[in-house]
Amino acid sequence: MQTFQQYIDGGFSDGAAQFESRDPATGQVWALMPEARRDDVGRAVEAAESAFFSPEWADMTATARGKLLMRLADLIAENADTLAKLETRDTGKIIRETSAQIAYVADYYRYYAGLADKIEGAHLPIDKPDIEVWLRREPIGVVAAIVPWNSQLFLSAVKIGPALAAGCTVVLKASEEAPAPMLEFARIFDQAGFPNGVLNVITGFAAECGAVLTSHPKVDHIAFTGGPETAKYIVRNSAENLASTSLELGGKSPFIVFEDADIDSAVNAQVSGIFAATGQSCVAGSRLIISNKIKDAFLARLKEKAEAVVIGAPDDMTTEVGPLCTNAQRDTAVQLIAQSVEAGAVVVAGGAPLKRDGIFFPPTILDCSNAHGAPCLTHEFFGPVLSVLGFDTEAEALALANDTAFGLASGVFTRDLTRAHRMIRKLRAGIVWVNTYRAVSPMAPFGGHGLSGHGREGGLQAALDYTKVKAVWLRTSDEPIPDPFVMR
Ligand code: NAD
Repeated sequence: MQTFQQYIDGGFSDGAAQFESRDPATGQVWALMPEARRDDVGRAVEAAESAFFSPEWADMTATARGKLLMRLADLIAENADTLAKLETRDTGKIIRETSAQIAYVADYYRYYAGLADKIEGAHLPIDKPDIEVWLRREPIGVVAAIVPWNSQLFLSAVKIGPALAAGCTVVLKASEEAPAPMLEFARIFDQAGFPNGVLNVITGFAAECGAVLTSHPKVDHIAFTGGPETAKYIVRNSAENLASTSLELGGKSPFIVFEDADIDSAVNAQVSGIFAATGQSCVAGSRLIISNKIKDAFLARLKEKAEAVVIGAPDDMTTEVGPLCTNAQRDTAVQLIAQSVEAGAVVVAGGAPLKRDGIFFPPTILDCSNAHGAPCLTHEFFGPVLSVLGFDTEAEALALANDTAFGLASGVFTRDLTRAHRMIRKLRAGIVWVNTYRAVSPMAPFGGHGLSGHGREGGLQAALDYTKVKAVWLRTSDEPIPDPFVMR
C-alpha cells in the first residue's frame, strides 16, 4: 500500500493520524494519507509566516521569484506522467484528461513566472506641491489555499502561481477525498529551490484542518474552491482573522443552442460540456436550453452520442467516461433524478448507476420541458447529468438561462452575429463561450458571481489580487514643515 506524507517548512512528515484513500474505479483502498490536525495546521501556518518575513524570500527580487516558478514549471512537465497517473488513480478522472491537463498546468506556472516582475506600482499626480506620492504593490501575506478533489493540480496552480509571483507564501489544503496528486506535487515543488516554508501542503478534514486553517490569526487571504455550502463556513471562519477571500464555487451553467447553430459542433460541445470529466466540472454545461425548432433532432443526436461513450477504467486511454469520485455524488444523482422524474422530467438516456464495481454513472439526459420546477434544473449534480429545456424566442432563452442562483459559465451556439452580441451582454455569468465550450487559458480570468462566488483566477488581475497597495508620501522640500495644526 502506498503511503504519502505532508510537506511543512521544507520537510516531509506524517500527520497526526492517517486515513485511507479509495480508488473510485474499484472501490478498494489503495493508499494511506497523512491527516493534518490542529498542531500540523499551526506548524504549516507558522512556517508560511516565517518564510514570508525571511530575507531569503522577502528580499528576493521578483525576477528571481519568476525564475523559481519557471523551474517549477519545467519540473512539472518532466514529472507530468507520474502526476497524471496519480490524479487518475485517486480521483477516477480519466487519464486522457489528466495527462492533457497537467501539461497545461505547467503553462499556467510559466505564465505567472513571466508575470512576477511585471506587477507594477504607480506614481500619482498628487494635488500638493513638493510632494511625491507613489503606490507600491506588496504581497498580501500568508495565503490559505483550499481546493476540492477535482482538477486539484490545476485549481492549485491558479492559486500558487499568482500568489508566489506576488511574493506571498501559501499553506495549501488538499481535498481529503483524493490528496495524492497534491502530496506528490509537494515532492516536485521541493526540488525547485524555493526557500523552506514558501509552500506547505497538508490535507485533512473540515473541523480539525480546514476550519483551523481558515480561521488562523496569521492567515491574510483565503483562496477557496469548492461548493457554495462549504464557502459559507469559509466566510464565517474568516470573521476570526478578517482575511480577504476569493471564492470559486459551483455552477448550473446554461448551454444555449439556437436553430441556426452549427449542429455538429454544438452536439460535440455539449458532450464535452456535460459528459467530459464525467460531468465533474464546475463549468459543466448542465442545462441545455434549446430552440424548440431543433430540439427533437438535437436530442436524438445527443442520445446517440451519450449511449456510445466508452465507459470504463480511468487509466485506459480509450475510456471517455470514468467513475464518479465519491459515493455521495452517486447518491445525490440518484435522489435528484428520482425527485425530478416525480416532478415530470423524462429520462432520455441513462438515469441510474451502472451495476458494476466502482462508482459508475452513465451519461444521463433529462427532458424537463414539462417539469420547469424540477430540482435537476437548480441543483448542481457534479456528475454526467444534463437537464433540457426548450424555448421559442430569444427572450425566453435568455430568461431561462439567467434563471439560476449561480453565475459561473455559459455557452451560446448561433451563427447570428448580432444575436450573439445581445446574448453576451445580457447573460449573467463570469464566462460566456460563443460557439465553443469548456476552454480555459492562463491569460483569461475565470470566476463567477452569486452562488458561484467572487474573485477571479487566471490572468493578470489574479496576480494583482495577491497584492495590497501601500501609498508612499515623500516630501521633497527642505523648508521646515509649516503650521503643524493644519492638515496637509
Ligand atoms: P467541498 O466544498 O465539499 O470541499 C472543498 C474543500 O473544502 C475540501 O478541501 C474540504 O476539505 C474543504 N472544507 C470542507 N469544509 C470546510 C470547512 N468548514 N472549513 C474549511 N475547509 C473546509 O467541495 P468538493 O465536493 O470537494 O468539490 C466540488 C465542488 O467544488 C463543486 O461545487 C464544484 O462546482 C466546486 N468547484 C468549483 C470550481 C471553480 O473554479 N469555480 C472548480 C472545481 C470545483
